[in-house]
Amino acid sequence: MTVLELTDVRKTYAGEPPVEAVRGVSLTVEPGDMLAVRGASGSGKSTLLQLMAGLDRPTSGSVRLAGESVPAMSDRALAGLRAHRVGVVFQQFFLLDALSALENVASGLLYRGTPARERRRLARAALERVGLGHRTGHHAGKLSGGERQRVAIARAVVGRPAIVFADEPTGNLDSATGAGILNLIKELNAEGTTLVIVTHEEAVARACRSRIEMRDGVLVA
Ligand code: ADP
Ligand code: MG
Repeated sequence: MTVLELTDVRKTYAGEPPVEAVRGVSLTVEPGDMLAVRGASGSGKSTLLQLMAGLDRPTSGSVRLAGESVPAMSDRALAGLRAHRVGVVFQQFFLLDALSALENVASGLLYRGTPARERRRLARAALERVGLGHRTGHHAGKLSGGERQRVAIARAVVGRPAIVFADEPTGNLDSATGAGILNLIKELNAEGTTLVIVTHEEAVARACRSRIEMRDGVLVA
C-alpha cells in the first residue's frame, strides 16, 4: 500500500557542464505520512519534488507513484495520473488572478471530465475546508498572500488525490500567515491526506511526522 517509492533515482540536467541535481535517492511514502524534505538552497529539493510528483522523469532509477511506474508511462498516461492522483502546491501559488477563487479551485478538476456543476460543488466544499467559504467569488488577484495559498491548497486537494506535494508552501508568507498555512496542512494530514513538504523552515519540518535531508543531490538523513 505504498503511495510513493523511489529507488536509486537520478536526475542530470544537460549543459556545460551537466548538473547532477539528484544522485541516487531511494525513499518510500506510506498512506497518511507527512514527510518533510529539508536541505539548503540548490541541494536538489525542487528537482526531487518534481520527480516524486510525476512532473518530470528521472534520468535513471525507478519512481512508483500511486501504483504506477512513472518512467514507463506515456506522456498522456502520466498527465492522467497527475490529474487523478496527485496534488501540488508551490511557493508562488500559480493562481489565475482574473478568475475567482472558486474557478481556480474548480480548474483542479478540469482534466478529469467532471461535469461543470459538480466541479463547482466540489470547489466550494474544498474552499470551505481551507477556511475560505466566504471568499469563493473573489478574484484570486484581490486576495492576500495567505488566502492565495489557501486557494492553491484547496485546488490541490479538491479531487482527493492519493498524495499532495508542497514546495516551500510558506516561503512567500510572513511568519504569522505561514503558521496558519502550516496548521491547515496539519489538519489535512490529520484527516488522512498524505503529504510531502519541501521546506527549509525549521517550524514546518518539526510539524511533520518524518524528515529527510538533501545535501548535494543525496539524502543525508
Ligand atoms: P533546491 O530546490 O534545493 O534549491 P533545485 O532542485 O532547484 O534545488 O536545484 C538543484 C540543482 O540543479 C541546482 O544546482 C540548480 O541550479 C540545478 N537546476 C535546477 N533546475 C535546473 C534546470 N531546469 N536546468 C539546469 N539546472 C537546473
Ligand atoms: Mg527549490
